[in-house]
Amino acid sequence: MERLEAKREIVRPILANEIYDRQELEAQAVRLIENRQQIEHDQWEREPEVNARSGLFEELTAKGHLSVIESEESVDETNQRTLRRLVNGWVNSLPDWEKERRLSEIVEELINHKVSADIQAGLLPTDAMVLTISNFPSEVPERAASGLGYGVLNAKGMVRSTSFENGVRRLEQVSRSNSNDGSAEQFYMSNGFMIGGGATRVLSSQIIATKRQFPNGVIDVQRALDALAGPGIIYGESRQQPGLNVPEYGDLREVSANREAQAEVQIKKLADYERQINIKYQVGQISYEDKLSAINRRRKELVNEICVLNPSYAHDARGQAAVIHFENAAMAMASGNDEAGYQHLQKALDASDPRAGAVCGGNGLTTESQNNVSAATRRQYLEAKEDRKNWKWKEGLCVVQRCPSRPQKTQVGPCSVCRNCQKIFDKGDNPKTVYGVVGFIDLITESFRQTKRETEFEQRQKRARQAAANQNINKAA
Ligand SMILES: [Zn+2]
Repeated sequence: MERLEAKREIVRPILANEIYDRQELEAQAVRLIENRQQIEHDQWEREPEVNARSGLFEELTAKGHLSVIESEESVDETNQRTLRRLVNGWVNSLPDWEKERRLSEIVEELINHKVSADIQAGLLPTDAMVLTISNFPSEVPERAASGLGYGVLNAKGMVRSTSFENGVRRLEQVSRSNSNDGSAEQFYMSNGFMIGGGATRVLSSQIIATKRQFPNGVIDVQRALDALAGPGIIYGESRQQPGLNVPEYGDLREVSANREAQAEVQIKKLADYERQINIKYQVGQISYEDKLSAINRRRKELVNEICVLNPSYAHDARGQAAVIHFENAAMAMASGNDEAGYQHLQKALDASDPRAGAVCGGNGLTTESQNNVSAATRRQYLEAKEDRKNWKWKEGLCVVQRCPSRPQKTQVGPCSVCRNCQKIFDKGDNPKTVYGVVGFIDLITESFRQTKRETEFEQRQKRARQAAANQNINKAA
């Protein structure tokens, strides 16, 4: 193996291709592909959970999500296993452009191994990390890209870092929009690298850096890309647009972890499903492609379910046209009106944009008929209804338009309904009429109780109580 010869200080980011022989690495990748053996009987114990978590959130969020994969075994074991997964995942029937990307990803993994070996040998600093910018392949026809799972609607891309500190291999990946906006090419230029343009060049130009350059790791790289894209850009999106639902950089790790914790039940379901399918695959009942497409179908159902339980995901996961129908399905479910719920979910699935993430249950055609609810839709709705019970409350926007908590965020439960609106639904009332009539002060104070601005809330509560007391005095008099 090629190695650095002397300890290398990383005073500025360097291109991996400057210190490792890329041609040799590509040749090695090709040899690995030629000698691959697809069937794998070994698995990390928690690998299906890792796959489920990253698969679900890749589809649920188009930008501004950070996913983390940390090794459970030694760095060397994790390196070997990851490489084997990538190599065995090779499919000969893929189009050439996708094969080229996958080859680059195998080379990226080989670079990870080199960096990790050089850290262990004391030739690179312990906080050295490998950075990869994976942009949307804009040179490819839209259909082909969306068919292979690329986020066409927002030209979704990824920035990732792989680090090896304290004996733990850690991958962090941030999703971003408009990844083909030239910010990646500018990022290379601003670091003094001439790599040429285009997603393929970018993908095959790993950077090695340390915390000295990027103290907050991949988040700092994303921040730098946004700054290069122009003023007021975050995760590749304009901050000005209404309804932009992304965390600030400083909150990204925490918000992403909380999102994933909320979908714990769905992650477990998908992981269990993968385990069942793996058994069928390992005994030769189904092919590798069958296995992947079965898991994909199940994942799409669970994404639909999560969009009913939290419609704020619907925009990214299913496209703008589907949002209103997911919100209506959520409200129907919260109010216990399942017949209406089926209809709304069916409309949501029919209106889903395959470019946001392919549709399941619907067929992409709009159904005019009011009663054309498929069995699959009914099943997904009922599954979501069952999982409502385990859905954790989290800060968010109440889905009820007339809710007095809006436009502030408040604690919302399943179907993104706040406690007050849920109480109204539970009584069989409609918040639309209720909010016009009674309990306004209670509702307002309740909604402010949920905000972080405690002192302002307390002042308002005091004023509200005062006003209510005055009213009572007036009534009594
Ligand atoms: Zn509400």
